Amino acid sequence: MSARIRNIVVVVAAAFVCGAAAAKTPVDPARDPKAVQTTVEAAYAKYRGLQEGKNADYIPALAKVDPNVYGIALITVDGKVFTAGDLATEVSIQSISKVFTMARVIEDQGPAAIAENMGVDATGQVFNSIVAIEHYRGSEMNAMVNPGEITSTSMVTGGSYDEIWGKILGIHNNFAGRSLSVLEDVYKSEAETNQRNQAIGRLMFAYGHIKDNPDRATDIYTRQCSIGVNVKDLATMAATLANGGKNPVTGKQVIGADNVPEVLAVMATAGLYDDSGKWLYRTGLPAKSGVGGGIIAVAPGKFGIAVISPPLDAAGNSVRAQNAIADISNALGGNPYSITPR
Ligand code: GLU
Repeated sequence: MSARIRNIVVVVAAAFVCGAAAAKTPVDPARDPKAVQTTVEAAYAKYRGLQEGKNADYIPALAKVDPNVYGIALITVDGKVFTAGDLATEVSIQSISKVFTMARVIEDQGPAAIAENMGVDATGQVFNSIVAIEHYRGSEMNAMVNPGEITSTSMVTGGSYDEIWGKILGIHNNFAGRSLSVLEDVYKSEAETNQRNQAIGRLMFAYGHIKDNPDRATDIYTRQCSIGVNVKDLATMAATLANGGKNPVTGKQVIGADNVPEVLAVMATAGLYDDSGKWLYRTGLPAKSGVGGGIIAVAPGKFGIAVISPPLDAAGNSVRAQNAIADISNALGGNPYSITPR
């Protein structure tokens, strides 16, 4: 090869390598909001036709929700909103509420209260496992599974059902930035069929984690799971966590910035049921899903993202939501473990 041709080959190869590197540069919402909107719309379109998964049906009302409901919202820490699809439909928040009630307990009583009462470790069991309770007599678990969360709900203080409920709804409202309400049909449907959760509440009482009135705690937990949310509500809640506990839309400091790392740590450990490790491996994002079909995920210091789509995989996580969030976050450099070397 002549020197001239070799030089041309080197230049072309270098251009190719630089081009490849440039293609990987994350989309920056501050510099290129249009590209963020394009990324959100592309993920929406890519998974709209995906027909995997199935609505939860162990709560009868959830089986009746339209499986085609599908919406995406991403909100940056400076309050920019990007959306695609269905923004109007409210689904029940379900287990995503566990994050915010736990946040309320941490805010009022400090992070140790949660760590010492139900623990902050993955159980390796399903979210409503009785075996998980028996194994460590109700310790060594976390507030993202039912025994831990019914306990966490029982820790919200108040002299009456209404006072406790007011605090729980209040923290959800502050995270969402608007007044939310309970989807009464979902509450009624779950209250009629939640005997397993009642048993879980009583076992946690028997082991001393719930101090009194386990049936009231289970009922309030059922009510918090029935709060109606649209995809923008969920994204605002996630973005508030991404922004150190300050709601980027309303400007209200909802929980202290000091308490956010512990909330995110529990989400990272156990937010996507038995697939939490797989999820973290794929995205690096603290997240929480619910059987209503929502998933929230938090890119700390960057953005919160939420997707609603009711059909769930075998682990109980929305199929479209996992795929859309992973695509968007990876395009935006959302993974907090992904560091460009100096
Ligand atoms: N309310 C539901 C239950 O306790 C929530 C489950 C979930 O979303 O993971 O079964």
